[in-house]
Amino acid sequence: SAKEDNKHQGIGIVGAGLVGCLAALAFAAKGFSVTLFELRPDPKEVTNEKNLRSINLAVSDRGIRALKYVDAEMADRVLEHVIPMTGRMIHDLSGKKQESQAYGLFGESINSIDRSFLNDCLLDEIRHSDINVHFNHKLIRLDNLSSEEKSPKMTFLDNSESTESKMKSYEFDYIIGADGAHSQFRYQLQKSMRMNISQEYIDMQYLELSIPSNTKGDSKFHIDPNHLHIWPRHEFMLIALANEDGSFTSTFFSPWSVIESFGTSSDKFVEFFKYNFPDAFELMGEEKLKYAFESQPRGSLMQVNAYPYHNPNGRALIIGDAAHLMVPFYGQGMNCGFEDIRVLMELIDKNNGEVSESFKQYSELRAEDLKTISKLALDNYHEMSSKVTNGWYLFRKKIDNMLGRYGNGLFQWIPMYTMISFRGDIPYSKAVKIEKRQTKILNAIEVGTIAGFILFGAAKLAQHYHKLSNK
Ligand code: FAD
Repeated sequence: SAKEDNKHQGIGIVGAGLVGCLAALAFAAKGFSVTLFELRPDPKEVTNEKNLRSINLAVSDRGIRALKYVDAEMADRVLEHVIPMTGRMIHDLSGKKQESQAYGLFGESINSIDRSFLNDCLLDEIRHSDINVHFNHKLIRLDNLSSEEKSPKMTFLDNSESTESKMKSYEFDYIIGADGAHSQFRYQLQKSMRMNISQEYIDMQYLELSIPSNTKGDSKFHIDPNHLHIWPRHEFMLIALANEDGSFTSTFFSPWSVIESFGTSSDKFVEFFKYNFPDAFELMGEEKLKYAFESQPRGSLMQVNAYPYHNPNGRALIIGDAAHLMVPFYGQGMNCGFEDIRVLMELIDKNNGEVSESFKQYSELRAEDLKTISKLALDNYHEMSSKVTNGWYLFRKKIDNMLGRYGNGLFQWIPMYTMISFRGDIPYSKAVKIEKRQTKILNAIEVGTIAGFILFGAAKLAQHYHKLSNK
């Protein structure tokens, strides 16, 4: 059987983050013999508080589709702990909340989950499979990448406490880099081939904050858990996503100049925070904010695009953030990385288990979609931080959603957010093409409405003067 044939093909994967773990499970499910390497120690053996740092992710259709593709029962187990979010809740400067901005047309939701919790779930699945995992292994170099005869070789620094640090090399039929933003795999690969790489820092930092759970009221949540909370303030913004225990993980995004303008003074930061996010300030408390400002690391945001994703002999491939790092404003980084795996696996099926050919076809098939989502993610910052408060934007959104809800059958109208987050069957680049056509129509409606207002106003004015002149 195909599965039996695949058993003789060895796959080495670098990085046991979200994407590397799912890739390992996907290859193993097809019968390949899989080995996974990870720089960090096994989280099961780490009790250190530092590793409990949390980022919340929104899992949506593309991610869920990929999880289900790999193993439907596993997807159910992993997704059991998510908190569905059906829309945005906007908090204004006076602390008033407005919850009208639903994500889907028919109550669909995106789903909040803690990143390290999700990673642990996937690692647990791996523990129950026959995938070999080597923790404390740092990729140092790749060899034999241009060779037609020799297998690609990966060399790691083994930092296990049980051994003295030493170099170890492994050879595989195929190797995959899922080692994230600062991928060593990508760096090694591009030295051996003509790979285009662009890297751009976005002038934006993020600081992680937290709203504690409610220990007094009826609900364990201080604010509604089923919304993504946004405090849009144009140049900067605050967001919050619920956790299962009743707390919220919150993130403050701003240009570097804003956070740096406070120098080392946490008092100034707290004052700024209290003025701009009064209700969040009440929930977080002064002490926690001061601590976060002084002690929490500030993340930078960067975009990386590479092409092609495979090497010429079709033995190595990069996926996930290693291949396409994007800013987090569309909630698609991981969803897109998971989709990478579904697309790749479908190619392997189509090519009857022929991995080289699939790697090559993958680059060609995926390039336009990956470029598209990177750009959409960046554009969405503007939407989240400013547009959500703009009257015209909300008006357009209403019409867009109305056409989506009632006009879908008739003229196949699908709002952009729906296509990206709830319709993983529509590739990113196709979504943009559909959106272009819809934007033209929305523009026409907008112009028509403005013209309507002007005509109405002019008619009223004429009526008024007519009355006056008749007096
Ligand atoms: P990573 O998660 O970075 O994993 C890479 C792994 O490789 C790590 O475990 C690392 O230790 C290991 N590694 C690194 N170097 C080496 C080496 N030399 N040798 C061996 N191992 C190595 N995405 C969404 O879909 N939805 C969201 O709502 C969302 N929100 C986000 C919010 C923020 C603030 C941020 C920063 C990101 C967000 N993302 C979101 C993006 C998402 O977190 C990433 O896209 C996703 O984690 C990428 O997974 P990955 O496995 O490719 O990389």
